[in-house]
Amino acid sequence: MILILKADIDEQSDAYKKTLTFLEQLPNIQLQHHVVQGAVQKLSEIYLLGETHMLDQAEIESLDCVDRVVRISEEYRILGRHRDQNRSSGFTYNGVSFSQDNCHVLAGLCAVDTREHVEEMMKALKAHGQVCTRMGAYKPRTNPYSFQGHGKSCLPYVFELAGKYGIKVIAMEVTHESQIDEINQALKETGSPTGVMLQIGTRNTQNFELLKVVGRQREYPVLFKRGYGVSLNESLNAAEYLASEGNSSVVFCLRGMKSEGGAPHRNMVDFGQVPVIKRLTRMPVCVDPSHSVGTRDSAPDGILDVAHAAAQGLVAGANMVLVDFHPHPASALVDGPQALLMDELPRFLDDMNRSHEFYLARKEIWAG
Ligand code: PEP
Ligand code: MN
Repeated sequence: MILILKADIDEQSDAYKKTLTFLEQLPNIQLQHHVVQGAVQKLSEIYLLGETHMLDQAEIESLDCVDRVVRISEEYRILGRHRDQNRSSGFTYNGVSFSQDNCHVLAGLCAVDTREHVEEMMKALKAHGQVCTRMGAYKPRTNPYSFQGHGKSCLPYVFELAGKYGIKVIAMEVTHESQIDEINQALKETGSPTGVMLQIGTRNTQNFELLKVVGRQREYPVLFKRGYGVSLNESLNAAEYLASEGNSSVVFCLRGMKSEGGAPHRNMVDFGQVPVIKRLTRMPVCVDPSHSVGTRDSAPDGILDVAHAAAQGLVAGANMVLVDFHPHPASALVDGPQALLMDELPRFLDDMNRSHEFYLARKEIWAG
């Protein structure tokens, strides 16, 4: 059972202390405190765990500090929606708000290769009003002899350039906890000109020890990718690891499922599940058309498969698009064949905006 406390509650007040005293004497019930950083305000929640079926919901609802009570199922305790449409979704990070009601495009380099390419990318993003990007410094590669990413050596110039071009949020994958310290250090040394959203890649979806460490830090929000070979339920439970350790600022990303059935695309595009995740959880939902489609092929209508797939995600209500671009895909060290070209950026952004607007229009149709 979740007790959502009234907004801006004063933990020193008598009313709060009385509420806690009452809750602490409930038999066979443990209390867990959570602070949820919503898109607009901070919300305090108290979780009652244990024999909650014995509790009188109306009595608890009538406690002074309690705004609402939500009965929860066992799954996705913190991130879940629990059939309560009023539970707030999302968070604000470095001035940018992410929720189930808005939409951002995170276009950028799959892997940082040169300072010049990072600058070219960020300059183009600024020119088109973008404040978010993706930049890979730590790359999990299938082949041990493939380029593994520049790691911490590229962080200072990536962060400085982000500051120069007004980038507020960089999605950056981490594959080991030590990399969080390296990111901390580099941000500190460069005067924190930007922010980082830590990405958990599909290969680490069920790396529970990494999830626990990333969940214990509250500094950075998390972009969590669905596992490419496990069920949606398993992936959502894995995301809950982050929240159970204290960090519920999580965006859930679909990126296609490994299956021969997906060919000729790299993975089977699974964006039809966007609404399912929004129904089951409060997480903003991202789609990654680059890693699911994996090619620069286009249909006879002249539209790239990557753009088609991303639009499918957005008209289904996705809140974020993570997409690979590169100034010279032929020289990219990772995933060149799927990168879009710089002159395609304005068209891609226009397509994504209109696809999101079409989703909003669809919502109106069904609201009647
Ligand atoms: C990536 O986004 O660069 C990446 C490696 O993605 P995924 O974990 O989905 O393969
Ligand atoms: Mn990639």
